Amino acid sequence: MIEDKNQQRTQLSDLGEFGLIDHLTKHFKIKQNSTIKGVGDDAAVLNFDKKKVVVTTDLLIEGVHFDLSYVPLKHLGYKAIMVNLSDVYAMNAKATQVTVSIAVSNRFPLEALEDLYAGIETATKIYNVDLIGGDTTSSNTGLLISVTAIGEIESDNVVYRSGAKPNDLLVVSGDLGGAYMGLQVLEREKEVYKVNPNSQPDLEIYSYIIERQLKPEARQDIVKLLSDLNVKPTSMIDVSDGLSSEIIHICKQSKVGCDIYEEKIPLDPQVISTCEEFDIDSTTVALNGGEDYELLFTISQDDFPKIKANPNLTVIGFIKEEKEGVHLVTRADTRIPVKAQGWKNFNS
Ligand code: ADP
Ligand code: MG
Repeated sequence: MIEDKNQQRTQLSDLGEFGLIDHLTKHFKIKQNSTIKGVGDDAAVLNFDKKKVVVTTDLLIEGVHFDLSYVPLKHLGYKAIMVNLSDVYAMNAKATQVTVSIAVSNRFPLEALEDLYAGIETATKIYNVDLIGGDTTSSNTGLLISVTAIGEIESDNVVYRSGAKPNDLLVVSGDLGGAYMGLQVLEREKEVYKVNPNSQPDLEIYSYIIERQLKPEARQDIVKLLSDLNVKPTSMIDVSDGLSSEIIHICKQSKVGCDIYEEKIPLDPQVISTCEEFDIDSTTVALNGGEDYELLFTISQDDFPKIKANPNLTVIGFIKEEKEGVHLVTRADTRIPVKAQGWKNFNS
């Protein structure tokens, strides 16, 4: 399908490896003072003075993490950067640089990689990070993208998963479950398209959840908001695998327990209506859906007045002693133990 979307097809071999790297990266501008040397030498050179540096990497593989039959390459480039910046923000740090490595098969024309890099460039512009390097190689199978993100932070401000204390409040940004339901809609449309390639799906009523799946935003704004409100979370993690796994990570590493209140979990109306349409329980989707890239964190109760009026933040739970365990308190007031469950084994 990729091939159909590109009118013009320039063979990658026409450029050679160095021509290709230069072609893809020459538009990128350096924005951060900490970047001394970006793309073009054997290694990048960075200067963080007295700041602490955070580093995180993610690997995305075609057929495992993305499906090019409905993911436009531009969105894929954008999302690959977001997934990594989200991890930097989850440390309470400021993202400053990224490297991007790709393995491509020769079924991709240059124009496809231009689309991928257009998405990467948009992300680096909006999030004010520098592309400082990467690696380019060929693949016999699908497309593979590996991004490394680097960030800076004053040592006292680092937030780990391990700092939650009993009586802290559990808070989440934005809303949950949208990315997973967007994926359900896209998967369904793919099946419809296989049967009838001339079908013209009207996806307008799913626009929010499809955007959550295809073009997620890392919550840089929440890190800034918390700093402006003078709130330092006691622990923090980003929601990549689903609320339940992330809560369990925080509780395990902090040696605490937690009650999560089902009625408090923030859901967009489109998530609720699409769950009804697909006959899936919306709480299950929020708990196990994943890929929302919201921030989940704990705060001391003393900080509650500072955040309570903010529509971007919802208190969804209460931290307890470790021996109390991790539970979902349902609308019917029953307590169900929460188990970690990544979205990949959602249906099993
Ligand atoms: P080396 O042979 O030393 O690995 P390369 O020819 O792979 O060098 O890379 C040359 C420069 O281009 C380096 O600065 C490298 O970081 C950068 N680079 C290579 N591939 C990419 C890519 N896909 N995206 C961004 N920068 C890249
Ligand atoms: Mg190289």
